[in-house]
Amino acid sequence: MIADNIERIKQELPSDVMLVAVSKFHPSAAVREAYACGQRVFAESRPQELQQKALELGGRFPSSPEGPCPEIEWHFIGHLQTNKLKMVLPYASLVQSIDSLHLLKAVSDWGVSNGRVIDVLLEVHIGAEETKQGFHEEEVVDLLFDSEKYPGVRFCGLMGMASHTDDPGTIHADFARIDGLMAYLVDLFPELASFRQLSIGMSGDWKIALQHGATIVRIGTAIFGQRDYGTR
Ligand SMILES: *Cc1c(COP(=O)(O)O)cnc(C)c1O
Repeated sequence: MIADNIERIKQELPSDVMLVAVSKFHPSAAVREAYACGQRVFAESRPQELQQKALELGGRFPSSPEGPCPEIEWHFIGHLQTNKLKMVLPYASLVQSIDSLHLLKAVSDWGVSNGRVIDVLLEVHIGAEETKQGFHEEEVVDLLFDSEKYPGVRFCGLMGMASHTDDPGTIHADFARIDGLMAYLVDLFPELASFRQLSIGMSGDWKIALQHGATIVRIGTAIFGQRDYGTR
């Protein structure tokens, strides 16, 4: 079933868009099943779960132990507290969810202390929800003007989540906004050559995201089925 789901998604996904399989709340066995049919990039949203899976399964980047899935690239997509960095940064090839200056500074400092440059996306608040994490658009501009203050990170682009709604018009509008912001930033900061990734689109809205410049889609439920929040 996981194999069929991935196959079906890949048939519709342009080859230059990265499929990230969101394995949070699913057991390692599910990750191994997806790995067996060729999926290589997985994302987790809880530090401890990422660390446990990386220690058990392995991964390509950069200090994962040997395991049955040596070619996995782990992304982190959840809220990250600065006291949990060491559960995430040794294993993750991309932190998609930098949502505050405080976290950005801490990740950069960790990179500097550990001789690394950490690839990051800035999470932008685009949805309607008040509580949603992320930077506002002007904050992203200000922060990138100061990008040399963060030598331990490489700014690779933006991540965003559309409003939690069934209304396609609202989702189109949310994604159009972040796509517009991305274009504006690429233009404004040509020296940031790696700032090219736009991570938008989840199980319910990835086809809409493709119409608005997505280069990364993050898909959980449509690959692995419903998450069971009770058992882990
Ligand atoms: C859980 C999660 C996803 C995947 O959601 P699905 O609807 O299951 O595809 C994508 N992005 C983020 C940031 C998430 O937390």
